[in-house]
Amino acid sequence: MDRSLAAALLDALPMPALLIGPTERVLAANIAAGRLFGWDGAGRHYITALRQPVLLDAVEQVFRDGEVRQSRYLAQAGNRDATWRVQVAPVETGDGRAVLLAFEDITAVEEAGQIRRDFVANVSHELRTPLTALLGFVETLRGPAKDDPVARERFLGIMEREAGRMAQLVADLLSLSRVEEEERVRPMTSVDLRALAESVAAAFEPQAKTAGVRLVLTLAEAVPPVPGDPDQLRQVLNNLVENALKYGSRGGVVEIALTGPAPEPALRTEGLRLSVRDEGDGIPAHHIPRLTERFYRVDSHRSREVGGTGLGLAIVKHIVNRHRGRLRVESEEGVGTVFTLVLPVG
Ligand code: ADP
Repeated sequence: MDRSLAAALLDALPMPALLIGPTERVLAANIAAGRLFGWDGAGRHYITALRQPVLLDAVEQVFRDGEVRQSRYLAQAGNRDATWRVQVAPVETGDGRAVLLAFEDITAVEEAGQIRRDFVANVSHELRTPLTALLGFVETLRGPAKDDPVARERFLGIMEREAGRMAQLVADLLSLSRVEEEERVRPMTSVDLRALAESVAAAFEPQAKTAGVRLVLTLAEAVPPVPGDPDQLRQVLNNLVENALKYGSRGGVVEIALTGPAPEPALRTEGLRLSVRDEGDGIPAHHIPRLTERFYRVDSHRSREVGGTGLGLAIVKHIVNRHRGRLRVESEEGVGTVFTLVLPVG
């Protein structure tokens, strides 16, 4: 087989590819394969060149029976693991059977699969806990507590709370899926953030009173409107204020502030900043980068106690992305937390 023609053909391919000749030595490897393996390859025996047993088995079998096979190759790319699907195919030449290996990077597909599996496992786990409680109380009400009106009232109260938790979880899941679906559609309505902040604050006033928190508004005058989806921006502010009330401290302040417009280098344009500050326990720094992951909670017990689903900030993140904005979190333990939404003005 013409080795330079083989090398030229492989070099024209975008994916890593290499050809093992009938003598079981690498006849040609393209540049992408050299990059993947960290060698130029040609001339080595394929066993020392490829090294991974699963892939070596596939090559050996193709040499033996000439049937195409799919295999895998695991590599390190920088500091992350990459998974490659390898097609191992026979090439019949005048000198005997050669084997062509073509590599396709399937890391992203594998990761998406893993995320989906984790998500299903998380949702099932979140639903199972309240369901188990509900079923247990139904049994108790049918049996031991049948004729005990006091216990019945108490158990019904717990059942109502557990059912409410499931309803909230389902509502948040639906909301998350809707928000994800719309993430690529640019929102165009003009939204007055000042009016929005005032209206959200008014709606939370009773809850703030119950939580023993003073809700304070510090809003700049004459701020321009931002292009946005009014319902979604309201949801963002609702989630942030709700968290501030849930995780803030009794007797403390929750402040909603609006500033700008000012140049925002991260947005490469002018932006407004809408922030929600609380005086709660704060969030340890190492948790902050993960807060917007679905079901991520700093303190699961506390979150469940206050009726949290662990989805609020994931919803916030998707909405902020759709608006091409940024979400900043600053927190100091024992002092409090500020969530800031930076939104482009135009
Ligand atoms: P949850 O429904 O559990 O409140 P979120 O997605 O809204 O879920 O928030 C994720 C986690 O981030 C919460 O469980 C909580 O641990 C933490 N968190 C969110 N907001 C605050 C805050 N203002 N102060 C302290 N911790 C917070």
